[in-house]
Amino acid sequence: FSFWTNVPKGLSDPILGISEAFRKDHYQRKVNLGIGAYRDDDGNPWTLPSVAKAKEIILNSNLDHEYLPTEGLNTFRKTAALLAYGQCPEISENRIASVQSLSGTGALRLGMAFINRFYPHHKVIYVPKPTWTNHKNIARDSGLEVREYSYYDPDTKGLDFYNLLRDINEAPRNSIILLHACAHNPTGQDPTQEQWAEIHDVITRRQHLAFFDMAYQGFASGNPDDDAYGLRYFVKEQNSVLLAQSFAKNFGLYAERIGLFSVITDSSAETDRAVSQLKILGRAMYSNPPLYGARIVSTVLNTPELYKQWHKDLLTMSGRIKDMRVALVEKLKEKGSRHNWNHIANQIGMFAYTGLNPDQSHNLMTKNHVYLTLDGRISIAGLNTKNVEYVAEAIDSVTR
Ligand code: PMP
Repeated sequence: FSFWTNVPKGLSDPILGISEAFRKDHYQRKVNLGIGAYRDDDGNPWTLPSVAKAKEIILNSNLDHEYLPTEGLNTFRKTAALLAYGQCPEISENRIASVQSLSGTGALRLGMAFINRFYPHHKVIYVPKPTWTNHKNIARDSGLEVREYSYYDPDTKGLDFYNLLRDINEAPRNSIILLHACAHNPTGQDPTQEQWAEIHDVITRRQHLAFFDMAYQGFASGNPDDDAYGLRYFVKEQNSVLLAQSFAKNFGLYAERIGLFSVITDSSAETDRAVSQLKILGRAMYSNPPLYGARIVSTVLNTPELYKQWHKDLLTMSGRIKDMRVALVEKLKEKGSRHNWNHIANQIGMFAYTGLNPDQSHNLMTKNHVYLTLDGRISIAGLNTKNVEYVAEAIDSVTR
């Protein structure tokens, strides 16, 4: 007898399942382009030099392991918000309510729980089609209704901008619109500055609420200010936005689970009330957030020479990724591929949306030992000077 005989087997996560299959493959030249984690040119995880130095400082400071308050480490919250929003009246007027979160996922979860509890309109969130698969899970488990807005046009391999605007315009007034701040996952297609302005206009006209997911600030272009353009534009135009920040990619702190959720308020008093409620939500979910990642990020952002080093580290990562995009396209041309692969070089961020269909993606895994998600998304960070030719050959062979 068991209480749990009726528990059905759940589907494995489409992204994490690929890493499992990769681990089981014993072919020597196998390549994992499934998971979005940065690798150096030898295919190894990379600790940012700025982070390594911060760790040394922390170690030598003999700090204790007391609980953080539920809202997190104050020095971290302040500089993390400053990094995202830039110096602005909202910061100086204490109109940003923030709480430290369990990385980007935790920030999204807290934000959506906050919406579910307090948003005074219908709780419908629109996510781009396609989007990071976990967005829908998080929204549903937070009690929100999930709908999609057009985002990508497979024919042009670009933004489906006309339909994007139409869908956001036709969404019921006061809907919540999730926007990737930069380095859209999985398509690698971001709006231009002019397009951000148009998206902003429609959202404002329809009195929607924008929820920015910023998982790649600085990692995309190499410049954190450039990558925050869309977010800052909305804030400058007086929009009340929600923001989920992750420090997994731009600091290489994946497992430390360090992030920040924030929301723009009307006044300092409203900030205090919002933070008090976010603390109540966090208290019931995990009581208080982890400390180590907050210390590292805070040390890097608050120590001028480490901050400088971090900017160099961002350029190292984003530069290598850009180089690999170009190298892959060149190698495909060298192999004599008759397809146009230029979109791979033009997309931005961790991923390329190759345009491979599910059959071709499946063949790439089973015949060529190159692992990716079935939607044809590859993590460019998994490419390096030693495997890019092999991968080009493999892609060419499944698309002939
Ligand atoms: N949003 C997007 C668009 C992402 O790609 C990711 C990471 N894959 C996240 C949020 C959150 O990641 P994490 O929880 O590790 O910060």
